[in-house]
Amino acid sequence: MTYDVIIAAGGVSLRVGYDKLSEKIGEKTVLQRAVNAFLGQKNLGRIIVVGKTVDGENVLCVEGGKTRHESVENGLRFVTAETVLIHDAARPFVTRDLIEKIAEDAEQYGSAIPCVPFFDSLRVVEDGCLVSSVDREKTFAVQTPQGFSTAAIRKAFSLASPDENYTDESELYAKFIAPCHVVAGDPNNKKITVESDFYGLNARIGSGFDVHRYTPGKPLKLCGVTIPYEYGLLAHSDGDAPLHALMDALLTAAGERDIGVLFPDTDPQYKDIDSAVLLRTVLHILHRKNLEILSVNLTVIAQSPRLSPYIEEMRKNLANLLSLSPDRISLSATTTENLGLIGENKALAAMASVLLV
Ligand code: MG
Repeated sequence: MTYDVIIAAGGVSLRVGYDKLSEKIGEKTVLQRAVNAFLGQKNLGRIIVVGKTVDGENVLCVEGGKTRHESVENGLRFVTAETVLIHDAARPFVTRDLIEKIAEDAEQYGSAIPCVPFFDSLRVVEDGCLVSSVDREKTFAVQTPQGFSTAAIRKAFSLASPDENYTDESELYAKFIAPCHVVAGDPNNKKITVESDFYGLNARIGSGFDVHRYTPGKPLKLCGVTIPYEYGLLAHSDGDAPLHALMDALLTAAGERDIGVLFPDTDPQYKDIDSAVLLRTVLHILHRKNLEILSVNLTVIAQSPRLSPYIEEMRKNLANLLSLSPDRISLSATTTENLGLIGENKALAAMASVLLV
């Protein structure tokens, strides 16, 4: 069964002091990142963005209201599916897995609300004094997307007064329809509320290293570019060491296992494979986790050939493969001053560092 999603983007960012939804995280705005997490999801009908304009397939942009109530209620007018997910545009780090879970459970239980535990102690403050403790075991922070039966949440809206003061739709559902079904939320699915939420807490670093032995009779491919040379790199795949180091950096930053585990060299399907094809699989893993590349740093270590004439072409090709601006990629080549195996020109190595958010 399909579901629609409403992305609430109408709120004014009082606590940040400027339009946080238009701020960029890497190359995309907060709003675009939130929308992208839903694009192409299986069983998704339409994406209704309330209060802002944004591009995307099946995206319908509609007007917001003066309050969250008015905005979401207006969005609900355009929902045609039997299940609806309502998401805050200020949560750009939501993963595809969480979205799928909420959609499935909302269909099964009538509602599905992602909740995460608190790690700080909680107290009630009155007149500037701590008066009592709150039982942390029973207290949860509520996230979005929140999933509902469309008919039920419409009914809740019709029963609520328009100036009802509520912070999210789970409150209305619980008040007028039934207790909400709780789903384990994701601690990384943070809401951008203050400026420091943008980067620090969500940036992830990764590094990778690879080395291959030179062999005659094979083309030398580096970053997907064929370099005229008498040797290529001995490997089960095409031996593109910089792309291998890069994939390992991306995977480790995403908390995944390395390419040796993902694409074992005992598997005949990877024999002589173009490493750019493997990179696409790695990028798909990042896409599932709604992770974007902020920057890439690659160093190729080779005594010979001289790589400086090819650096720009390699960088451009990398930018294409990663759908990233070239200025987010730094690429350099160095030698080992004739020292060691690389200095004796028996092998070529590559090192990569990446930053994801
Ligand atoms: Mg390798």
